[in-house]
Amino acid sequence: MSEPAPPFWQVKSLTEMTQEEWESLCDGCGKCCLNKLIDADTDEVYTTSIACRLLDLRTARCKNYPKRQELVSECIKFAPDTMDEYVDWMPDSCAYRLIYQGFDLPEWHPLVTGDPDSAHQAGFSIKGKALRTEEKVPDPNDWFDYIIRVG
Ligand code: SF4
Repeated sequence: MSEPAPPFWQVKSLTEMTQEEWESLCDGCGKCCLNKLIDADTDEVYTTSIACRLLDLRTARCKNYPKRQELVSECIKFAPDTMDEYVDWMPDSCAYRLIYQGFDLPEWHPLVTGDPDSAHQAGFSIKGKALRTEEKVPDPNDWFDYIIRVG
């Protein structure tokens, strides 16, 4: 009997993936939708607990994914050809970051478990966490008080 073929994320680079494969890599954690601050001197990226106004805090999903870049001008265009530019903005657990850096997906990833909720169940998403959207704290100068570690 022959071995089953390895899954696509173990044999393809991000640039070789189909659009469907690329989209399926997202575990739905919602961490990339938390606003970030950048240290102008060191370029270090800090994540805050202030979520984008389009993030649904109950589901950890964007409320308007197809139009997100029209509605939120700061929403980054994350794609295979912009990985270099934006990889530091993504959390350590982000599937795109992991694959880009040569790692495998974690055991709780939905593509591994077959369960679309497994990132939430494993505690790797922002779902159910006590966050606030930027409407509640509109001035970015106040966001320094909300820096968190997301992993
Ligand atoms: S951080 Fe990565 S895996 Fe999580 S929602 Fe954003 S793109 Fe998807």
